[in-house]
Amino acid sequence: MFAVNSQEQYNKVMSTNKKIPTPEEIEKEFQEFWQKKYGGTVRLINATANEPTPEGEAEAPEPKKTFDLKFDLKPKEIKHYLDRYVIKQDEAKKALAIAVCDHYNHVRECHENPDAADTDYSKQNIVMLGPTGVGKTYLIRHIAKLIGVPFVKADATRFSETGYVGANVDDLIRELVTQADDNLELAQYGIIYLDEADKISTPPNIIGRDVSGRGVQIGLLKLMEETEVDLRAGNDVASQMRAAMEFQKSGKVEKEVINTRHILFIISGAFTGMEKIIKKRMHQSRIGFNAEITSQADDASQYFEDVTPKDFIDFGFEPEFIGRLPVHVVCGELAVDDLFYILKHSEGSIIRQYENAFHAYGITVLFSDSGLRRIAEKAIEQKTGARALMTVCEKVLRDYKFNLPSTGVSEFVVTDAVVDAPNVELKRITEDADYNRNAVMQEQVRRYEAQFYAEHQLQIQFDNEATNLICERAIADETEIQLICDQLLESYQHGLNLIKQNTGRSRFAFPKEVVENPDQVLEEWIRASYTTKG
Ligand code: ADP
Repeated sequence: MFAVNSQEQYNKVMSTNKKIPTPEEIEKEFQEFWQKKYGGTVRLINATANEPTPEGEAEAPEPKKTFDLKFDLKPKEIKHYLDRYVIKQDEAKKALAIAVCDHYNHVRECHENPDAADTDYSKQNIVMLGPTGVGKTYLIRHIAKLIGVPFVKADATRFSETGYVGANVDDLIRELVTQADDNLELAQYGIIYLDEADKISTPPNIIGRDVSGRGVQIGLLKLMEETEVDLRAGNDVASQMRAAMEFQKSGKVEKEVINTRHILFIISGAFTGMEKIIKKRMHQSRIGFNAEITSQADDASQYFEDVTPKDFIDFGFEPEFIGRLPVHVVCGELAVDDLFYILKHSEGSIIRQYENAFHAYGITVLFSDSGLRRIAEKAIEQKTGARALMTVCEKVLRDYKFNLPSTGVSEFVVTDAVVDAPNVELKRITEDADYNRNAVMQEQVRRYEAQFYAEHQLQIQFDNEATNLICERAIADETEIQLICDQLLESYQHGLNLIKQNTGRSRFAFPKEVVENPDQVLEEWIRASYTTKG
């Protein structure tokens, strides 16, 4: 391992790593590898070299994969798509949608008219700022999927720590080709996402590891501007294999390059400490204008909204590097409510994974709202955003996944009690069938209420006594909760709407009398609503 600490050394590393091995060198390396691993029992045979193709039967070269970029999305369409998966981050979604549309519209124009000069265009590379686990990567992953371009994510620390600065940065491009299933044309429109980019900043007064951060920035800058990366020259196994296989086939290795002009670069990070730089700058400019300093919320993302290129430079980025990243996108912290919403409503919610995992054993798992909220509350304590949701769920449900498939339990509810004391509840669920059945029925009542709201926009809630009565009746009559509730509330949709018209009320708490005497209660409520109206 070595650190690159000067431009000269950096250039040297770049040029050394760029050297293409000759076919013979590649073959020799592979022969040595097989020899070492299998002691001569396995030999690498160069089919082309040993058995020349019969005359007139030359092996046809593989047809080049092509790609026709047909980008016709509008910013609002991208935002709507993202809304399905990513909760909150509205400003970030908007800014990304605009930048991505600008970029791919431009790419499409260049694609359709390759001769048109585009010297005036500056690429919409993006910096994303925000704490961990709030959806930065998730947003970009979904954008790449929507557009149908390859996506590569890497941690910036990977480069600064290994010291193989230039070469490894180029490896990102090679990975893009792999992600594009070796379709070079498609790879040239891909997205490279570099996380933990704040770690490659070089604060002015620090020397050492951070010096290589500058090297990484310079390497990236080259890629972001425009360069050609040789796909055969990598130190990675994939490019070595690619070269070796080609040599096997044709007896030679042709230079194959990819141009980085249209690759979209996104760097992201928490940029901890940057808020102080912004705060100080804002403070100074206010003093300059003799204005009073108003107190601001101490959430870093509030300051990030005002970030300028100068703040990035003060943070330790090269001016040229940050100059190539004109779009700044801020993602805010997620609160308990957001985590709850992610679990309950987002299309990619991890809850679906658990439902499917249990379903594979014929077990239905119902996540109650109280359980989901408790998971969200526990997750927020870990301060890793939505990432912690999976950690909490795994911890809570691991023993359930292990034990329940070998029991007779076919249905259970994740309540707040399950999240708080998973093992105690697991014991009760497996040992006390009535207890489990009651929990499942209670949850079914809650789901009935939610369904009633979805269908009629009337919020109903049976209180504890009413819920218990419904459950008792379901057991006594051996009937479904749904059926009992349907019968009880036969006239309620109409009746409650009347009350709503008279009083404006749309929330209704149901006491046990609703279960005992539904029609009588409704009549009284309706009569009273006319009095209120009057
Ligand atoms: P980071 O901001 O550190 O890049 P990620 O985007 O990788 O975080 O988020 C980790 C996981 O958490 C995602 O795969 C996704 O499941 C979930 N997640 C994070 N933020 C959100 C969000 N705003 N809405 C929905 N899910 C989210």
